[in-house]
Amino acid sequence: MLGALAALDAGVSDVEETETESTIFADTSTCAMDLEGSMGMLVPLSFPQKQKAPKNTKELFEDDDVAVECLLCKLEFKMESEQKMFLKHLFTDHRLVIGDVNQVASLKSYVKFWKARFQSGPLEEFCSVMKMDTTPDGKYSKDEVYFMLSDILPEDKQLREGLQRKRLNVILERQKFEREDMTYSQDCLFCRKKLEGTRADALEHLAEYHNFNLGRSDNLVFIDELLEQIHLRLQNLRCLFCNNQFYEKRALSEHMRKKQHKCINPEHTEMDKYFIVNYLEIGKSWKEVEEEQDGPLGPEDESWSDWCDDEAESPLVCLFCDHQSKHLHALNCHSQVQHNGFTLDNLNLSFYLQVKLVNYIRRQVYLNACPVCNESFDCKSSLDEHLLSSQHYTVPDVSLFDQPQFFFPTYENDAVLSQLEDANDGVEVPVVPE
Ligand SMILES: [Zn+2]
Ligand SMILES: [Zn+2]
Ligand SMILES: [Zn+2]
Ligand SMILES: [Zn+2]
Ligand SMILES: [Zn+2]
Repeated sequence: MLGALAALDAGVSDVEETETESTIFADTSTCAMDLEGSMGMLVPLSFPQKQKAPKNTKELFEDDDVAVECLLCKLEFKMESEQKMFLKHLFTDHRLVIGDVNQVASLKSYVKFWKARFQSGPLEEFCSVMKMDTTPDGKYSKDEVYFMLSDILPEDKQLREGLQRKRLNVILERQKFEREDMTYSQDCLFCRKKLEGTRADALEHLAEYHNFNLGRSDNLVFIDELLEQIHLRLQNLRCLFCNNQFYEKRALSEHMRKKQHKCINPEHTEMDKYFIVNYLEIGKSWKEVEEEQDGPLGPEDESWSDWCDDEAESPLVCLFCDHQSKHLHALNCHSQVQHNGFTLDNLNLSFYLQVKLVNYIRRQVYLNACPVCNESFDCKSSLDEHLLSSQHYTVPDVSLFDQPQFFFPTYENDAVLSQLEDANDGVEVPVVPE
């Protein structure tokens, strides 16, 4: 029973933490097409409409914040602003807990789905049944029955994954818009300059002139709102990293510079929504993703404050040996000579595939496994021998590395990733907010 109680506790504490959870989900209906063709000239023609900007977080939040009927009764709740109340109602009035509710990409759609399914059978059919010796209001009572809806059930898992994918698509669409939109125009956070052009230009200004590095724009989404959040914090004279408040601007900026607090704290989960990585895997935050990347190059005590350091100073480590270079070009030269012609230059792979390639090779080499044929060896030197003798110092088959897990850096401080270039436009783009 203790286990079940703990599980329920965990469920409920999740419930408490969902306040800032931004649930993003939108239908994909776009603006109406203009009428023409078979209608001839009977209806007025219209110029093709300028494509509307994909929704920002506030609009997405509002989309999801519609009143939906409870899973098990007629009461209605707004799925975002009244989420806590709704979850409490489920628990006290229906003894139902939704597991990991903060990882459901659209509670609105989730609830609608299960409400319909619940019509077809008893709760036991869809939910785990737990017994606890307490009533919902905390009184002792032997073997009280509770239900838990979670992704242990394949159908629930599928639903969660589907919602997650949909949300990711919406996010990527928004990101594409932000990347291409040239009409960005805002005052700089730190100086009087008006930042105009693309959002990437704005971030570049912040990094270059104010040593304020948010990572590069390809990692980010809802950049306007992110900068607005930062602006508000600075206006309230609060440090971005440690949240300490100061009496005056100069003291704050001195503190942030000296303590290297000119960066975002990954503990601040309200910032999660601005980092693409949070939309990639269900239920993982960027911090957890980072923490999973343990390897010989990532000392455990390396703290997040390091990602605002000047990354140009991190050496680039060869994919196959300990050699380090300052520039990608030099590294490629080394690699061509020492590793049988292998180079990251001119691979004709998209930026993201290059990232995955690097992470994949790093992981394989770390495991002493050949990236090309996957044969594994008991030591590094046997692998080296094999790579050379089998001529496997080549780019492996794309299917081997074109997998979502390789989007995440194998080494958290892998400077090679930040120097990769997009094959198409030669623009330097990022991978981790380091
Ligand atoms: Zn109800
Ligand atoms: Zn400025
Ligand atoms: Zn601070
Ligand atoms: Zn090497
Ligand atoms: Zn091999």
